[in-house]
Amino acid sequence: MLPDHFCKCTHCGLNFPAFGKELICPKCRRQSTLTERRLNRPILTARERGIVALVQQAKQNKEIAWLLRKTNGQPLTEGTVKVYLSAIFRKMGVMNRTELAVYADKIIAAKIAQQKAAMESSLELSAAA
Ligand SMILES: [Zn+2]
Repeated sequence: MLPDHFCKCTHCGLNFPAFGKELICPKCRRQSTLTERRLNRPILTARERGIVALVQQAKQNKEIAWLLRKTNGQPLTEGTVKVYLSAIFRKMGVMNRTELAVYADKIIAAKIAQQKAAMESSLELSAAA
């Protein structure tokens, strides 16, 4: 089972992978309260991934709004699509939809690899502690 997130020990400062609400530091065995960084957090939410896929199909905001309403029954406005898009651009580090369409797959793959590497190095650290 993969850890849900990293927890930084509030007593000794160790970063350790944590499962659910069990935040016991492997080094000093004390309970921590601070969750530092989620690990298995998806890069994009399900809805954001759906929007990226539609941008990759060269859909315009109006179409995206309509298609999303059609598939899940929740109405979206063009304004909402724009808000989602700015959040996606920020998360992905791109300037516009053209860059997003071209680079989305590569960026997501790179971010997943980063998360995986961070998790593995942390697991090694806590195994050594
Ligand atoms: Zn500790």
